[in-house]
Amino acid sequence: MTRIIAEVVLVLALIGAGAFGWTQHKSAGASTGQVAELETKAKEAEEKLAEAKEELTKAQAEAKEQEEAAAPLKTKAQELDAVKGAFSGGEILKDLEATYSKQKGLSTERQLGVAAVRLLTLGSKDPSTIAAFQKTLELTDWKSRSKAVCAAQSALAAAGQKVNVMSECEGINAAKAGADDHGKGDAKDAHAAPAGAHAAPHWDYEGPMGPENWGKEFPTCAKGKSQSPLDIKGPFEKVKVSIATDYKNGPLKILNNGHTIQVNVEPGSKVRIDGMAYDLLQFHFHKPSEELIDGKPAAMVIHFVHKNAAGQLAVIGVLLKEGNENPGIKTLWANLPAKEGPEVMPENVSFNPSNLLPREMDFYSYEGSLTTPPCTEKVKFFILKSQVNIAREQVGAFPFKKNARPVQPLNERVIQTN
Ligand SMILES: [Zn+2]
Repeated sequence: MTRIIAEVVLVLALIGAGAFGWTQHKSAGASTGQVAELETKAKEAEEKLAEAKEELTKAQAEAKEQEEAAAPLKTKAQELDAVKGAFSGGEILKDLEATYSKQKGLSTERQLGVAAVRLLTLGSKDPSTIAAFQKTLELTDWKSRSKAVCAAQSALAAAGQKVNVMSECEGINAAKAGADDHGKGDAKDAHAAPAGAHAAPHWDYEGPMGPENWGKEFPTCAKGKSQSPLDIKGPFEKVKVSIATDYKNGPLKILNNGHTIQVNVEPGSKVRIDGMAYDLLQFHFHKPSEELIDGKPAAMVIHFVHKNAAGQLAVIGVLLKEGNENPGIKTLWANLPAKEGPEVMPENVSFNPSNLLPREMDFYSYEGSLTTPPCTEKVKFFILKSQVNIAREQVGAFPFKKNARPVQPLNERVIQTN
């Protein structure tokens, strides 16, 4: 019973997201017959599912009182199967993948569209469906993408994957899943234009959208009690925690997301923190370093962002000090997109993130947050004590003048050291 409801809600969310992806595709001026047809099919499916969802929601309420009410559900579940049947032949997925395969690097929305169709074709447990949603999250720059992020996070959660759904998604998910308190008319709006998805929130490092005002759009940034970054100074608490990185060579995937330069990492690179494995998702840069050491920033910092199987995030920070040229950064800067845009994958360039690590892995650590909106908390930080060289010219060549959030109050936290 719960499973069926979850499935219907999931499918609804995804068709909405998929249609969104196709709309983006169309508006890019690359409209083809295939895409139009896909859209029509998605619309039909959407309507059928909206009906099914309404019925299911009603039935769910009744079923709480009496078990017999579950009977009509079977019919609806069969309808749902029929809709999914339209996708299960795989033709739609094949068409969509063929259309997109000519493009290097998909936008978040298109990636989500592919994920949605994979879900309809292969089912929610299929590894490639789950991978497609995870990919969506990894590509996301957290900027003006909350709708895509929420859809992907909710989809993964509904597929039984352990993910933390952002608190910012509540408005959006309530519109999607909360048929309980709505009348008939709302079922359609639920996936067409969620109430929570108001004009894309945006933010900056200066001006009216600067860090002191992030809290207006992203409450955690202002109200959170364990925010990052910190001014790192004693007294420290000594802990016995080990961190061991195992980063692999892979094709370079680099993007300018409008706030930083980010390198996305293929699965396989990991760090073990006290034996627990976290996958390296991406790393990115801040100038100057966001963290201060005894009140002083370094020239820059690299944040290596990791996630474990339970969806918990861990960031390793490597401070960069002015000195000799850094060969790893030379490779990255030679390939970075100067203007904001999607991920690029220059041909025949591979990169090993371990090139950017110091030899010594001694660290300061604390419980913190994302240092960009939505400032989500429960992120473990490990700031390495050893700093790595970067040439003054290389600092100057970074295409952002300043992209560092100011340090945040320590509150009840104690900074640890190994
Ligand atoms: Zn960062």
